[in-house]
Amino acid sequence: MSFADLGLSDELLRAVGESGYDEPTPIQRAAVPSVLMGKDLIGIAQTGTGKTAAFVLPMIDILGHGRSRALMPRSLILEPTRELAQQVSENFKKYGKYHRLSMALLIGGVQMGDQVKALEKGVDVLIATAGRLMDLFGRGKIMLNRCELLVIDEADRMLDMGFIPDIEEICSKLPKSRQTLLFSATMPPPIQKLAAKFLNDPKRVEVARPATANVNIEQRLIEVRADKKRDVLKDLLHAEEFRNAIIFCNRKTTVRELATSLKRSRFAVGQIQGDMDQADRIAEFDRFKSGEISILVASDVAARGLDVKGVSHVINFDVPWQPDDYIHRIGRTGRAGAKGIAIMLATREDREAVERIEKLTGFKIARGGGAPEAEPEQAAEAAPRSAPEKREKRERSPRREPRTAKPEPKASAQVPEATPVIEDMAEEWNGPLPSFLSHSAG
Ligand code: ADP
Ligand code: MG
Repeated sequence: MSFADLGLSDELLRAVGESGYDEPTPIQRAAVPSVLMGKDLIGIAQTGTGKTAAFVLPMIDILGHGRSRALMPRSLILEPTRELAQQVSENFKKYGKYHRLSMALLIGGVQMGDQVKALEKGVDVLIATAGRLMDLFGRGKIMLNRCELLVIDEADRMLDMGFIPDIEEICSKLPKSRQTLLFSATMPPPIQKLAAKFLNDPKRVEVARPATANVNIEQRLIEVRADKKRDVLKDLLHAEEFRNAIIFCNRKTTVRELATSLKRSRFAVGQIQGDMDQADRIAEFDRFKSGEISILVASDVAARGLDVKGVSHVINFDVPWQPDDYIHRIGRTGRAGAKGIAIMLATREDREAVERIEKLTGFKIARGGGAPEAEPEQAAEAAPRSAPEKREKRERSPRREPRTAKPEPKASAQVPEATPVIEDMAEEWNGPLPSFLSHSAG
């Protein structure tokens, strides 16, 4: 999906294009159309996922019509800190360059005079920290009864900083018929209460929580040469104290070959991949659950919905191309409050994919961790890539719509596979919080 599909004006699309963004992020994709329709919205996505543009872009188009009046801002964005307020105002300047919108920044620590002057002229967008806004309001320098669009940004940080009572008071001063948007990385109960009280039948948009939100999963990355992966894995399985492990590969053939190889090395191993029929998959899965086998080699098709209590390890034999696959994969461990370990083998060529994962989770995965045979980079460069890996198309899980990350050439001829086992997971990125992640949400 492109920005052009979101229903934004041409001027705005031009400004977005000039800012160098290719595609909207998941939260932008989900939020923008609803905001343009005038709906209230709760947007939940971790830091760094582009929440700002998710509200700034539609706001610019909404405010593009109509005029401001003295002392009566048409919209209000509440930010927990000056720095964030400033960043949001920069976003407005950048995206709003082809619109004529007036904006005022109301933050502490700067002279109030200029801010008041701007307000007196009338502003379309007021970006404020709660304290300064309350202050000016108390002095009668500002009226909020024409403010028909309210954004409560970074709500969880507002909570941490003790601003929720201020926010409540501010909310109650705005007209009832307004549109309200609330963004947050998490939704603890006080924010849920705030939303229930001040939002009107909001659409709730949630982007899968970062893996790092699950503090029960210890994540590690081991740098390996492509041709050493199997050896490193076997060493790891010998070295690690694991109860059981699910090992994920990107391709069906890798699953098959790896399972065979591990069996030869006398591991109690089974496999689940897309070429197996449903009955066989369930049978393998049952063997794993019962403890008859302690290692399950699996493709992504098996990642979703697999629900086993007490999986101690998830090993990514391959780095998944789609970063959210990583979250789904490692979410097989650390469930229901148990501790889990997620280890990923990565070659030099995986660097970009690893970066995408780390960008998504906002977390740098610890390198090393008893890595056998991690080698110098030069050697990795010279390492031959295995030919079959290059040729075979990556196995895809059945759901998919275009996502933020650059897609690989699609295996479009491939017949979609039936979802293998147990529950049907939310198929969409922006759907409700996947159940396995909600454990971590506390
Ligand atoms: P959040 O509020 O969710 O923490 P921000 O809105 O501050 O995140 O955005 C984080 C970063 O992502 C910023 O540097 C922003 O410029 C960038 N960004 C936002 N939208 C996109 C996009 N569609 N494509 C690429 N980068 C983006
Ligand atoms: Mg933000």
